[in-house]
Amino acid sequence: MTCGPYPDIDGTDSMDLYTSRLTKGQEIFTLRSYYPALPVYILAQNVSIPSVALEYPTYEEFVEELKKGYDYVGINFNTIFFDNTYRMCKAVKQFSPRTKIILGGYGVTCLREEFQEEKELLSMADYVCHGEGVRFVRDLLGEPLDGEIRQEFPSSYIYSMGEKIPFDNVISALGCRGACEFCCTSAFYDYKKVRLVDPAGLWKSIKEKLLKNDCRFVWIYDEDFFADADYVREMAELIRKDKEIPPEKVRWAGFGSIRSISQYEVEELAEMGVSAIWIGVESKFSELPKRKGRDVKDVFDSLRKAGIQTVGSFIIGWDFQTDENIVEDIDYFVGLKPTYTQVSSLMPCPETRLWERLKKENKLYTEGFRWSKHHLYSIMHRHTSIKDGDVLKYVNLTQEKLYHENGPSILGTFEVNLEGYVHCMESKNERIRAQASMYGDWCRKIFPALFAVGAYSPSPGVKKLVKTLQARYIKEFGAPSFLSLLKSGLFFCYAAILKLRTFLPHRFKKRKAKRYTRRYSYNGAE
Ligand code: SF4
Repeated sequence: MTCGPYPDIDGTDSMDLYTSRLTKGQEIFTLRSYYPALPVYILAQNVSIPSVALEYPTYEEFVEELKKGYDYVGINFNTIFFDNTYRMCKAVKQFSPRTKIILGGYGVTCLREEFQEEKELLSMADYVCHGEGVRFVRDLLGEPLDGEIRQEFPSSYIYSMGEKIPFDNVISALGCRGACEFCCTSAFYDYKKVRLVDPAGLWKSIKEKLLKNDCRFVWIYDEDFFADADYVREMAELIRKDKEIPPEKVRWAGFGSIRSISQYEVEELAEMGVSAIWIGVESKFSELPKRKGRDVKDVFDSLRKAGIQTVGSFIIGWDFQTDENIVEDIDYFVGLKPTYTQVSSLMPCPETRLWERLKKENKLYTEGFRWSKHHLYSIMHRHTSIKDGDVLKYVNLTQEKLYHENGPSILGTFEVNLEGYVHCMESKNERIRAQASMYGDWCRKIFPALFAVGAYSPSPGVKKLVKTLQARYIKEFGAPSFLSLLKSGLFFCYAAILKLRTFLPHRFKKRKAKRYTRRYSYNGAE
C-alpha cells in the first residue's frame, strides 16, 4: 500500500474509518478503528513466488524494503494518495531500478487525466492493473488463474470507551452491476460483479474467522451483497445445516441496497446471522434504481427492531437538492436513525458517468486541483442548485442533527441490541431465539457506558432517550449489578477526561492515531 504520511481529512485521521466517517462529529463518543489494507494481503498471499505484504510503512521503511531487490513492487493506491504513490515510484527508480512497478487500486482511474503529474506517474509504472488484482498478478507471473483464493487478514478493531472489539473481513466479490451514475466501484469493474468465491467457499472462510480468536463478526466485501439472492440463500442454507457453530456465534455484515434487501423478510436476515447492513440512502429525492423496493424508513425501522445495525450513507450536492428542500432531505435521513452514518459531498470520480457529464458541462474544477483533495469532504465541481461553499455547511449540519437528535452511535448500538434481545425472546424461530444470549451480552457490555452518554449528552432529547433505554434495560435484565455500576463510574471518569481535553488548545486536543507498520512474508520470503 502507499506509505505515509497519511493526511488528516477535515481534522480527522483519514485512515480511520470510524473516526473520519462512521462516527464523525460525535465529540468524545467518536470511535476509533483499525482496518487492514485487504488488497495488500490478498495479493501477497495468492501468488506462488516469495512475497511480502507491507502495510502502513513509512517512506523510510519502504525504501529499506526496496533495497532488498524485489522483482516486482505492487502499489495499491487511492487517488487521495497520488503524491505518496508518485514519491514511492521515484524511490523505486532511485533505489531499485530493476524492480518492476505494478500500480493498482481505484487510484489508477486518475491516470487518464492530465492536470497533475499523471503522465509522469504512468510513465514510471511497468504495469497498471485496472480491475481485479489476483488474476492480474497470477497472469503476469504465468500462474494458474482460477485457483482457490486465500484470504487471511490481521484482525480489524473498533476501539470504544476503552474496549477493543475485534472483527474480520472477507471479500466475496468486487464491482457492482448497479451502475449508479456517481459510483466509482461500479464503473471500475465495467458495471459487472467479479465474484471471488462461491457460497461454500465464503461460508468456510467466515466460519474459520468466527471461530478464530475473539472475532465478533465478519464483514463481507461485495458492494451489493444482497442483490444475488440465490447466492445469499445458498450460503444461508449452509449456515443452517452447520452443526459446528452455534447460531449465536454466526454474525456477519455486508453492503446492501433498498432494492436488494427488499427481496428478503427481515426474519430471514436475522436467522442467517446478519449483524449489520450498509445501505446507501443518498437522498430522499433520489430516483436511483437501487432505492426502489420497500419503503426506506420501513426497512431501517424493521432492521433495527430485529437487532440488525445499519450504516446509512447520505450525499450532499445533487442537482435536485436546493436551499429550499435540503433541510427536508437532511431531516428525512436523520429520521431513519441509522446506527452509523457516512455523510459526504458528491465527489465525482474519474471514469464514472457523473465525471464525464460534468466534464461535458464544463463544471469540473480541474485547474490547479490536486488529487490529495479528492475525498468525501471536498469540492471539485460547480454545483447546480446550491452554492459550492454551502455543500460542506450542509454536510456538517447533517452530522450535527444526527448527533443532537439520535445521539452517538454507541447509544444507537445499545438500542439495536436491546431491540434484538426482545425480538429473539419473542421469536418462534429456534435459531433466532438462540441469539438472545448474544444480544443480552452486548446489552450488559454497553449498558455501563449509558451513564456517561446521559451525563454528556448533546441535547435534552438524547438525555431523555438514554433514560428511556435505561428503564427498558432494567425491565428486561433487572437492576444493574455492583460491577456494572462500578464500570459506569469508570466510563464516566474516562468520558470526563476526554471532555476536559476538548477545552485544551487544538494541538493538545487531538487523539493522535498510532499507526503501526505491519510486515508479513509468504512462500519463504524472509
Ligand atoms: S448500488 Fe451501490 S455499489 Fe452498486 S452502483 Fe449503486 S452506489 Fe455503486
